[in-house]
Amino acid sequence: MNFYLKSWTVLVTIIFVLIACTGCRQRSTSLQDFSGEEFIMNTLVRVHVICEDEEKGRKALKQAFDVFKKIDHLTNRFPENKPVASSPGDVLKINGSAGLKPVQVSADTIRIIQRSQYYAGLTGGAFDVSIGPVMDSWGFGNNQQYVPADEEIGRALSLVDYGKVEVDPGKATVFLTEPGMSLDLGGVAKGYAMDEAVKALREVGMKHALINAGGCVYALGTRPDGEPWRVGIQDPRSSGDIVAILSLKDSAAVTSGDYQRYFEQEGVLYHHIIDPSTGKQARELIQTTVVSESATDADILSTALFVLGPRRGMSFVEDLPGTGAVLIGPDKVVLATANLNNQLTFTGDGGYQIARNVTQKR
Ligand code: AMP
Ligand code: MG
Repeated sequence: MNFYLKSWTVLVTIIFVLIACTGCRQRSTSLQDFSGEEFIMNTLVRVHVICEDEEKGRKALKQAFDVFKKIDHLTNRFPENKPVASSPGDVLKINGSAGLKPVQVSADTIRIIQRSQYYAGLTGGAFDVSIGPVMDSWGFGNNQQYVPADEEIGRALSLVDYGKVEVDPGKATVFLTEPGMSLDLGGVAKGYAMDEAVKALREVGMKHALINAGGCVYALGTRPDGEPWRVGIQDPRSSGDIVAILSLKDSAAVTSGDYQRYFEQEGVLYHHIIDPSTGKQARELIQTTVVSESATDADILSTALFVLGPRRGMSFVEDLPGTGAVLIGPDKVVLATANLNNQLTFTGDGGYQIARNVTQKR
């Protein structure tokens, strides 16, 4: 759900926000929609809040953006992306001390890594935040992407092992036990920032809000007319179109896709989601969307399912309480968990074949 890049999807989101406001004006003249967008975490973060008080609304927007900036600072692993004169963030410090010593970090960083480690265990390492060296070997992050030799991938892979990421919550430290290891929280940080931003909005009394951070969405409460928020899942092969609409209330929906970050070499596209068992692109799916009350979990799981592929991914996610998923394969076959039946509507566009457990209406 790369909404900001996809005009039709943006339209869908905006239309529903507008409808929501029209509805609320009929009941109360004072409800207003406040929105803003900022480029943070390498993506456009767009926040809508709907409330009666302009000062409160504007303050809420600022607080939400401040949370994204704070988590970006803690989790970004590239120094050149840091604001001038700020001290290094937690991930930079952890990576800089790999093989040397444990590093004291913030409670946020501990929580992000602990949750990542939990899912690393559950997915047998399909999700592994120690993927940093392999991401580097493909050149992701420094814009010098190329296909590395197998030996180079092999060397990088020998440094990938979530079992060697030691978290001590009591001392608030993280230690990468081997020199050369590095954390990459790109598959989870946005989701965590989203949860914290939503918490901040709730704390200042916001009842209706929609945050959209490049593929990571949270619908806080309902629209003001009591209806769920509606967000589009973009067509992974046609950026202006949508495959399905999700109805959401107090819920996150996070999408991973092979089109979100990639480079091309000799006619082949190489994307940014790596199977830690091979060090190469996971290719069994082209898009995954996960729905959960926790954006952190949804973010981790969308990446994890992408790696697990349709068979292992579906059997894994179907056993996870409170979690829905929509998986799309390169053959345009769509799989969805049955628990999304009442909140997922396929548009019928794009030649997608809905495999099972799902309704198709227009
Ligand atoms: P997402 O868009 O949430 O699926 O995250 C993709 C990002 O997660 C990549 O750009 C990497 O930073 C990171 N990543 C790639 N492969 C993995 C993996 N197998 N486990 C954890 N993180 C990964
Ligand atoms: Mg993710």
